[in-house]
Amino acid sequence: MRNSGYIELLPRHRVTPDAALTKRDFLKFCGASLCALSSSYLIGYPEPVRAQAARKGLIKTKQSLYSTSFEGGEVQCGLCPHRCRVAKGKRGICRVRENRDGRYYSLVYGNPCAVHLDPIEKKPFFHILPGTTSFSLATAGCNFQCKFCQNWEISQASPEDVYSYEVSPELIVKKAKEIGARSVAYTYVEPTIFYEYMLDICTLVKKSGLLNVYHSNGFINPDPLKNLCKVLDGANIDLKGFTEDFYHELCNGQLTPVLETLKTLKKEKVHLEITNLIIPTKNDELSVLREMCLWIKRELGTDTPIHFSRFYPLYKLKSLPPTPVSTLEKAREAASSAGLEYVYIGNIPGHAGENTFCPKCKKMIIQRTGYMVGEINLKDGKCRHCGKPVPGIWT
Ligand code: SF4
Repeated sequence: MRNSGYIELLPRHRVTPDAALTKRDFLKFCGASLCALSSSYLIGYPEPVRAQAARKGLIKTKQSLYSTSFEGGEVQCGLCPHRCRVAKGKRGICRVRENRDGRYYSLVYGNPCAVHLDPIEKKPFFHILPGTTSFSLATAGCNFQCKFCQNWEISQASPEDVYSYEVSPELIVKKAKEIGARSVAYTYVEPTIFYEYMLDICTLVKKSGLLNVYHSNGFINPDPLKNLCKVLDGANIDLKGFTEDFYHELCNGQLTPVLETLKTLKKEKVHLEITNLIIPTKNDELSVLREMCLWIKRELGTDTPIHFSRFYPLYKLKSLPPTPVSTLEKAREAASSAGLEYVYIGNIPGHAGENTFCPKCKKMIIQRTGYMVGEINLKDGKCRHCGKPVPGIWT
């Protein structure tokens, strides 16, 4: 995998409201100072021993919390709707869970392969502690095989294929606090596949006063999800499309369980945001996007923030063009017409669709340029101009 280089930590990455950045300036700024702190810096290994500390194939095991063993040695995993039935010595679809002698094990407990300090806006969370950083981590593996995955080098890898670190949950929390992060994020790949590790970190994070935030594909079974909700503060769920065909053909997944996850998160009162990556010719039909927005309005509420994100050609969809800006703008209009109140455009730094506007008085509440936050017009979680409450976690 590629690590981002060492950067200086900026606890609050803010710009003045009138700061005008070209896209080039913005990318340069991100590359130089904002993207992330490297894994080795964050977990404290000095440069000369980094190569030995992070070694390929490091595998630590922990027995799976959700699995059933059968006579004859087969096991069935209960973590996600794939419900893999796995013979002795074999692994599930996500590549990081293995049947060892009739017992099922996570192979990535305490072995993240990516540890970064990111702006929380990168997750993206626009309604949680704007302008703060999130200590972000992932292990190898994923339960989807999205043809457009931007992290395919780790998500489509087995633990042996990547360089991993040995980091206990206690060390994650300690480092997150030391470096000034306000939250810990489980992200980059589907966090469900490192569930036991995530849950143990979440429990410690909760006691420490930081927040737990999770960017997920939503492909998790109800029981582990409800258990996770007890310690989870915020979730951003990728609603990758709104047809079963899209999920089947491009992700090796299913839509229905993802919709159930969204409803459960809402019911369990976890702060919820949604991301929809719009891919030209694959999920950009306006009528389907409208249908999706109406479902969100009906089932989750008009105050659910949604991020329409721009696709760039990569991995197995390199032949497609980037999403036209006009497509994203039409999607935003359709969502607003459907009644959604917080509709964003992502991956186009400097676009007005990055800002938060009050649905009542229409004035700007939070100004953003890419991952940088400018003016914030909120007071006690309400619009400073008209007093309307804005959903989110603000202090
Ligand atoms: S978490 Fe992995 S092993 Fe378990 S059901 Fe899902 S893909 Fe299969």
